[in-house]
Amino acid sequence: RAAIDRALDGGMNFGAHKQMEGKLAALVSARIPSIELVRFTNSGTEANLMALATACAVTGRKQVLVFKGGYHGGVFYFAGNGSAINAPYDFVMANYNDIDGTLAAIEAHAKTLAAIILEPMMGNGGCIPATREFLAALRQAATRHGIILIFDEVMTSRLSPGGLQGVHGIAPDLTTLGKYIGGGMSVGAFGGRRDIMGRFDPRRPDAFPHAGTFNNNILTMSAGVAALSQVYTADAARELNARGDRLRERLNQVARKAGARLQFTGIGSMLQTHFHDKPIRSPDDAAKGSQELRELFFFDLLAHGVWSARRGMINLSLPVTEADCDALVAAVAEFVDSRRSLIKG
Ligand code: PMP
Repeated sequence: RAAIDRALDGGMNFGAHKQMEGKLAALVSARIPSIELVRFTNSGTEANLMALATACAVTGRKQVLVFKGGYHGGVFYFAGNGSAINAPYDFVMANYNDIDGTLAAIEAHAKTLAAIILEPMMGNGGCIPATREFLAALRQAATRHGIILIFDEVMTSRLSPGGLQGVHGIAPDLTTLGKYIGGGMSVGAFGGRRDIMGRFDPRRPDAFPHAGTFNNNILTMSAGVAALSQVYTADAARELNARGDRLRERLNQVARKAGARLQFTGIGSMLQTHFHDKPIRSPDDAAKGSQELRELFFFDLLAHGVWSARRGMINLSLPVTEADCDALVAAVAEFVDSRRSLIKG
């Protein structure tokens, strides 16, 4: 808030480069080393549009491999049959965490695929972590065929100081970011390999253009610098995600002890409630379970003063305390108890 006030006092947007964008860029690349160069946008959706456009331009190819159930923004919606208003790329669909099927799809389109885009943990798709083997197989296949591997870390970058890619030690060619990196202001970013992002260098005669009135707006840049350097520091990220891991374990214990058809997936501060106890490796697995129970869970939690996403997602933000986590565990225990006739396995 103080950073935003200072930015406002200094004059809003003068349509030029400012120091803050350099500072934010440096903070982002220090956190995520695969991001050698980065450019800012106004949203995560726009970051993905730019990353895919870049991949197509660099490779001279037009196809994009996506995963069923994925979500990469308002025009990148791959649940069910996708969306009628998706961005008009030639999409090839594969199944998340399906190594053999995905490698076969890559081989079949090896000469025409510009990019593979995925979240290293599917967020909206149901907090489904990718296996390390799956990510490693994609990395290898992308390198082999000159396909640009894009990690959409708009959500998952919060899961460790270096994003989820840092946890796995697997570097994509490009990464997209958004949400908290603007300190609560509208933001997105795409960045990665110097040889790819360097194509935007305006000193090159053939530079890719990337205009946008608010791309480097001073409110976002200032709030983002404060967010990454003072608020969501590396230590704060580790602490919040450890709290999330403890919470998920406690919630799963409640479910297991009661023999309930209920489980919580995710990593760190991102959790998803599922109403069955079978393994969850894909959005199809996540789609199983009772929709009515999902609704009931939402309203029962609400009655306890806990606001979760209606689709069953629970994200911890920084103000959430250990006492809040206790309250959630108690609310879930009561849900399991009071609804046991509906939820018993
Ligand atoms: N990618 C992922 C994985 C997201 O979760 C989101 C937003 N929920 C987006 C992209 C789009 O970001 P924005 O809403 O800023 O356009």
